[in-house]
Amino acid sequence: MNMCGAGRIVCCVDPVGEVYACPFVLAPEFSGGNVRDEGGFAGVWRESPLFEHLREWQVGGTCGTCNAYDVCHGGCMAVKHFTGRSVDSPDPDCVFGNDEGPAAAAGTFVPLSLGGKGKGKLSQISRG
Ligand code: SF4
Repeated sequence: MNMCGAGRIVCCVDPVGEVYACPFVLAPEFSGGNVRDEGGFAGVWRESPLFEHLREWQVGGTCGTCNAYDVCHGGCMAVKHFTGRSVDSPDPDCVFGNDEGPAAAAGTFVPLSLGGKGKGKLSQISRG
């Protein structure tokens, strides 16, 4: 695997049934739903707006024009989120030193938002 598989080929179900895109992003913004919701796990995996978006999502900004994007895909979404970076910015450990640091402007810090309990959805993510 040479890219983040969050919501694409992996997920994590916590002890109360929340289905997160990745075991490293156990935060409400990254929950696609709950296995106890109508449709169960299959419904979350197949129809969650969050997971559907992650399967299409391309990192924008500097990463979007990086010639290493095909092998790096912008690095780790979890690391970026929990270090205060936009998931649309380069990974803090970018091998080219393109880390932009934590997002300075209020409102750009958290790129994902929860649309309702157990119904994670994305906002503010776009390529370029
Ligand atoms: S994290 Fe760095 S190496 Fe990876 S795609 Fe972004 S700019 Fe390129």
